Amino acid sequence: MTDQPTRHVPADLPGRIQHYIGGQFVDSADGATFDVLEPVTNDVYLQAAAGKKADVDRAVAAARDAFLNGPWPRMLPRERSRILHRIADLVESRDARLAELESFDSGLPITQALGQARRAAENFRFFADLVVAQSDDTFKVPGRQINYVNRKPIGVAGLITPWNTPFMLESWKLGPALATGNTVVLKPAEFTPLSASLWAGIFEEAGLPEGVFNLVNGLGEEAGDALVKHPDVPLISFTGESSTGQLIFANAAPYLKGLSMELGGKSPAVVFADADLDAAIDATIFGVFSLNGERCTAGSRILVERAIYDEFVERYAEQAGRVVVGDPQDPRTEVGALVHPEHYDKVMSYIEIGRTEGRLVAGGGRPEGFGGGNYVAPTVFADVPASARIFQEEIFGPVVAITPFDTEEEALALANGVRYGLAAYVWTNDLKRAHNFSQALEAGMVWLNSNNVRDLRTPFGGVKASGLGHEGGYRSIDFYTDQQAVHITLGKVHNPTFGKGA
Ligand code: NAD
Repeated sequence: MTDQPTRHVPADLPGRIQHYIGGQFVDSADGATFDVLEPVTNDVYLQAAAGKKADVDRAVAAARDAFLNGPWPRMLPRERSRILHRIADLVESRDARLAELESFDSGLPITQALGQARRAAENFRFFADLVVAQSDDTFKVPGRQINYVNRKPIGVAGLITPWNTPFMLESWKLGPALATGNTVVLKPAEFTPLSASLWAGIFEEAGLPEGVFNLVNGLGEEAGDALVKHPDVPLISFTGESSTGQLIFANAAPYLKGLSMELGGKSPAVVFADADLDAAIDATIFGVFSLNGERCTAGSRILVERAIYDEFVERYAEQAGRVVVGDPQDPRTEVGALVHPEHYDKVMSYIEIGRTEGRLVAGGGRPEGFGGGNYVAPTVFADVPASARIFQEEIFGPVVAITPFDTEEEALALANGVRYGLAAYVWTNDLKRAHNFSQALEAGMVWLNSNNVRDLRTPFGGVKASGLGHEGGYRSIDFYTDQQAVHITLGKVHNPTFGKGA
């Protein structure tokens, strides 16, 4: 039952999604499929091929063949770059359709899905440019030696992605993995396989050689697990929950794989009394309610200096109450529907927990007028103690905890007092404090008097339970390549002679 207005459903939705292996769309070897729901009605709207070990084996074999025998790893960077730019052009030219499908499949508001589609194009463009500008070191020892770095693609990269911004996060891994000459097997999240199914057509049209890109849909414990345990996949780039990351870490250990782990977060936004309050409120509202709160870098804990605490809470709650919840396809919508009923139940259970741990000042469950779908009103709890579960645990929905502090030391202890360390946001106009406080934060990324706006050259990644390794700019190039050091004698061979006798 729903009392929502008539909704827009994209034209030409596929009824089924297959794998893409060695340049062909194929079903699972055993013919298995899984249901995909759309979050506004929770109706099953398509069947996706459910990949298992046999399918992953086929995809890895195709990718390995393309790596060992195909042109891609051996092409000039400029030639690969041209294809990546064409991919960026195609993504850009289809941004509206991509956003429409992504929003339908994931429940993300259409305007935000459009921004993500454009960011995906930008990721390809960025790595297309970076790889032609790439230079490596040469070291000279005058008269004796020269040493240089021979940078090489590694092989088949396994890419495992989550459902929160599916297409954009896939591009974030595909761009650098392909730019550097690797071949790939992508395993997208099972909640949201729709947009990933568009990559194959885009890549074919852009001229990517067959076998370089392979896609296997399926459940994490089956398709994802088989990719992690495949001996011919030397690299796994994973984005997802910290607990899944721990499991993948253990499963990859026997193979000593290269791992990049972008994991969960519970990021603090720290607002000092001298901050620009209007900007801080706008940014901290956007920081946790954009992308439906399903955002790894969400500022989901707001720490506010006591002198402005009451005013902040009052204004924040009032503004949060005005955030527009609505149909994801409606351009006025600011918070859409959560991705899946299982995730909705999880977020709602945290709201119930929150009622016993803090003071509810906005939201608190399903918004009025929404009879069906995974809708959650932007929810704000104030006076939340550091021991609360809603302070410590990642909720990954439109729910925020606000906590007061009296001193800078207390703010720092609160900010660092969780297992995560992905992002942090600091609001103050005191220059020294801004830098000293930011540098003391246990977070991979800090934004100072700023929302989450990131230049693609900067490192991206978390510390503590939020991740292992950094990607972004040259860090991504380093992850997807081996740097072989070649040492050459130029002068006399410098060799102690063993075995001449006493
Ligand atoms: P998830 O860990 O449940 O799943 C992520 C991917 O891993 C999916 O494709 C899933 O099928 C696969 N998977 C699950 N079990 C697996 C296994 N045993 N072996 C191999 N693959 C397996 O995460 P999610 O719920 O899809 O995404 C939400 C999480 O992602 C949140 O914790 C969020 O913070 C995190 N995230 C982090 C970043 C970042 O950059 N740090 C970005 C976006 C999302």
